Amino acid sequence: MSLHDRSVGELARAVREKDVSAVEVARAYLDRIQAIDRKLGSYYRVDEAGALAAAAAVDQKIARGEDPGLLGGVPVALKDLFVTRGVETTAGSKILQGWVPPYDGTAVARLKQAGAVILGKLNMDEFAMGSSNENSAYGPVRNPWDLSRVPGGSSGGSAAAVSAGLAAATLGTDTGGSIRQPAALTGTTGIKPTYGRVSRYGVVAFASSLDQVGPFGRSALDCAQVLEAVAGHDPNDSTSLDQPVPNYRAACDLSPRGLRIGVPAEYFAKTAPAIADPVRAAIEALCREGATQVPITLPHTDYGIAAYYLIATAEASSNLARYDGVRYGLRVPSENLASMYARTRAAGFGAEVKRRIMLGTYALRAGYYDAYYLRAQKVRTLIRRDFSAAFETCDVIATPTSPTVAFKLGEKAADPLAMYLTDVFTIPCNLAGLPGMSLPCGFSEGLPIGLQLLGPPLGEPAIFRAAGAYQKLSDWHTRRPELS
Ligand code: GLN
Repeated sequence: MSLHDRSVGELARAVREKDVSAVEVARAYLDRIQAIDRKLGSYYRVDEAGALAAAAAVDQKIARGEDPGLLGGVPVALKDLFVTRGVETTAGSKILQGWVPPYDGTAVARLKQAGAVILGKLNMDEFAMGSSNENSAYGPVRNPWDLSRVPGGSSGGSAAAVSAGLAAATLGTDTGGSIRQPAALTGTTGIKPTYGRVSRYGVVAFASSLDQVGPFGRSALDCAQVLEAVAGHDPNDSTSLDQPVPNYRAACDLSPRGLRIGVPAEYFAKTAPAIADPVRAAIEALCREGATQVPITLPHTDYGIAAYYLIATAEASSNLARYDGVRYGLRVPSENLASMYARTRAAGFGAEVKRRIMLGTYALRAGYYDAYYLRAQKVRTLIRRDFSAAFETCDVIATPTSPTVAFKLGEKAADPLAMYLTDVFTIPCNLAGLPGMSLPCGFSEGLPIGLQLLGPPLGEPAIFRAAGAYQKLSDWHTRRPELS
């Protein structure tokens, strides 16, 4: 088996047992990126020198008889939203072009501590706003299954790189679906953990009450291994949960016998059979192994998108106020301070980011707060209650991840509302702060379909249990796009 087809666990084991050196693994991935990524555009920046140095350090540790770590020698890559010491971090925006951070975010530092070899920074929608990766200031990412289609977004580069074998695993972020939707569209597995499970310290902020870090991998087991390395309490993030990190890999090995799978009517009612049928078939496959189906209802699902586009834009308008030409990246000089701010922001932000800053600023204006932001927060509470009621009768909830397979580049780019609607099944989970995974469960017209599994707060083990069991029963996650 070639190196780019091996799992995270196999790579870590092979390096630890000196079947292959970490440098050889890094070299193989760097060569493949060089050969293939021109077509995809998944990497914004490859850090060849940094990767080879990190790999050499892992090999030296092993030679000295020391423990190389949980991810020793495993080649990974990061959405360009993660702050990386000494490596340019742009968040997909012109306004941050050239910004070289002086520190590593917590998730990045933990990856390094675990021995992972960081290959580079991945393309993404500007400030993580988008569902197709077309909002990047540095060009789109293409879907490895069909180069005329989008990989999803906003972590489009993170998804495409794993799908194409250009990293063994990657980190993304998910504010309204940005891990799960691209995972679904590229045939990869991705998990957005419970809000607060992974530190947001050193992650460029979009909507702070929704943002969460998570891994992409070729299987749930690969995601489990990476999540174990990055999860856990961090005093630098006040919303970080002070809870022990369970053994997610062990959960992947548990039998689904007795697992109660909630099936929400609202998520299937308007979904085309080409998507809904494979998702139902996946649920039935788990039931044949002893899981049971429980019909549930999440009545406020339809209000999720509207509430999200008030809450997320309000928080973004405040978070993005810091890009004013004074401290980071771009500065457009002007005659006075106010016009320097204005010109810098006009030149540095793309159209979608400006749209959201304006929407969010409007929603927060004196006199409008009660009508918009406060009401959206009330809807958020109703959605959270829907889920708590549902989880009294089930352990996980299974739904489609995305209402469609990957769409064509340009297809929705001119219609923001059509783009927003693609997140109808992923957004409620963020509003409720719950963990959610997408994993492959079939194909339609040669394009991958995602099964979404949601859990109660800190219910990641139940998700890994269902996903691990399903990936033993199916081989969708082992299919690879043809690329040469
Ligand atoms: N697509 C959604 C948006 O545009 C979600 C993005 C995300 O999760 N970062 O806001």
